Amino acid sequence: MYRTMIAALALSWLSVTAYAQNDLVISNVRVFTGQEQIEKASIVVNGGKITEISAAPATGRVLIDGEGKTALPGLIDSHAHIFAATAGVTEAETRDFIRTKLQERLLAMLRHGVTTVKSLGDPTDIILQVRRDLREGNLAGPRMLVVGPIFTAVGGHPATSPVCQGDSWCRSTTAAEVATEADARRIVGRLADQGVDGIKIVYAGGVREGIEMKKLAKPVMEAIVDESRKRGLRATAHVVDEPSSLEVLAAGAWGIEHGPSEPLTSNALIGALMKPARSYTPTLYGNTRNNPALFQVKARTVADAYKAGVRIIAASDVSGAMPPGRALLEEIQLLVKAGLPPEAALRSATSSAAVHVGKEKEIGTLAPGMMADILVVRGNPLANIADLFQTYQVIQNGRVAYNDDAPSATFVMPRLKNGQPDLQGMWLGAPGTRGGNNHKLFDGIEYLPAAKPIQADFEGRLGNDNLYFWCATGSIPSQMIYIPFPFMLFQDGTNFVIFHEYAHDVRVIPTDGSSHPDPKKYSGMNGDSRGHWEGDTLVVDTTNFSKGRRRLNMHGDFLDENSHIVERFTLIGPDRLRYDLRVDDPTVLAKTWTATDVLQRRPKDDWIMDTSCREGEKDISHLRESPDYKPASNPPGGERK
Ligand SMILES: [Zn+2]
Repeated sequence: MYRTMIAALALSWLSVTAYAQNDLVISNVRVFTGQEQIEKASIVVNGGKITEISAAPATGRVLIDGEGKTALPGLIDSHAHIFAATAGVTEAETRDFIRTKLQERLLAMLRHGVTTVKSLGDPTDIILQVRRDLREGNLAGPRMLVVGPIFTAVGGHPATSPVCQGDSWCRSTTAAEVATEADARRIVGRLADQGVDGIKIVYAGGVREGIEMKKLAKPVMEAIVDESRKRGLRATAHVVDEPSSLEVLAAGAWGIEHGPSEPLTSNALIGALMKPARSYTPTLYGNTRNNPALFQVKARTVADAYKAGVRIIAASDVSGAMPPGRALLEEIQLLVKAGLPPEAALRSATSSAAVHVGKEKEIGTLAPGMMADILVVRGNPLANIADLFQTYQVIQNGRVAYNDDAPSATFVMPRLKNGQPDLQGMWLGAPGTRGGNNHKLFDGIEYLPAAKPIQADFEGRLGNDNLYFWCATGSIPSQMIYIPFPFMLFQDGTNFVIFHEYAHDVRVIPTDGSSHPDPKKYSGMNGDSRGHWEGDTLVVDTTNFSKGRRRLNMHGDFLDENSHIVERFTLIGPDRLRYDLRVDDPTVLAKTWTATDVLQRRPKDDWIMDTSCREGEKDISHLRESPDYKPASNPPGGERK
């Protein structure tokens, strides 16, 4: 009765909002629903839930332009340690961690698109309080699922492993050491009453620092699994060898975590994992990032399991030494490296992960009626998984939880003595996503019919036209957002100077109100740039490009001498510089091309002399050619065009 009433209320409310302004709309976006791709759609959000995904245009109070971007279900990290081995080991250290670090680490997860996280082995009372604080909005961070302590043998991992460093409080809260079936059932029951979301067992901990960790007695393990099922909880098991994996699955465990570290000896394990209620969580990043040989072994098992149809789960096993949030993206990338297609790897952190944690009716898929937990990234991770690192916005429960474009409320603009924002330093476009891959980066360029063949003709021909081979960097804007080398910004109050790594070319941009020279008198590979300030944004206008075709990237994207480029630089955080680009080119582009990137500040010890093209070679004249400039000799590799 109560349920029916709520459903009726929800329906009438929906029909009203259909005619009103929507809460939030992501328009013109490529969608990965968690199951399949939709090339272009609008996602409509109302009341914290997705109400529509369609090609029909829609407006919203919050409108996110999805052009050149991809929307995915918020990511689910099914294996994370929020405190254990992160907070320190004693109760005092843990309390201190909550006060000083917890919020920052939870936000780092959100910033990377992780909207749900399952905590393992964290002290029950504390993690349940964190879950409450997140639900009530006292903390910002992912939706938290908890299992409490990890069931293990008396003296098993993690009770006596280095995790707790002998601290008794840590040992008693991180691990539930059980000796008998009765103990096992009693503790599962107690945790169920406390409201945990699942159960985690360390069945066979393997070998740590040369000491074999004690294995849980098989009947005790079976009792934990059985009691969990009776209480409606899914038990998963930490195992690192094949026989133990088979035993926990035979007992009815929902999934194995980590899995065998040795090559499989038969098809038995993959067969056991094939049942619908089984998952395999290999934790490649957590276990193999410093061990390439182990990666090869586990990658083989993952690839075989995937091919057979096993549900693979991406989970980070994040703890103190790993970057929260980012660790899950690394895991997804490693699954691709192991042989999963990007779409399958993304499923393992979305729709498959939702089934794994038993929340598939609420999260993990973008569809009407589902929670509006949405990750929007720049680019297309379905074609290039590294684009997953290019977070644009994260929507949680229908609200913008992270916006890469917006300055944070606490950010104070650093300024020069003359009041100009101080943008000086070493910068690089989103690291790890640029350059050299020959994938189409410049989404959104539309060529005129006459220009298309020139672009298409370039594809696959990397020999003489390879920009790096020429020591060329593809001119503006490639130097800023495509090539994987940093650049340094200087300001002297009148000029804005950009000094690039690799070809070591320098762009001097006067901000003194002067205008472009006559193109007959001056033109160049990088054109002529003039800057002015609009509020705290530096606007740079560039024309006067040299005659002839100019490559933008390895894909053959290009502009010609008629291009007019406007770049806008806005500092939006101590280490984030927003770069907005607008390009018109009446002889190449069918329409104005716009793009945005957020440049990241490089570490202090990074230096633009790290990489140089043609070390010692002084001739970079091809970067400064004028209309009547004739090169003295051909560059290596071919004719100059
Ligand atoms: Zn773990």
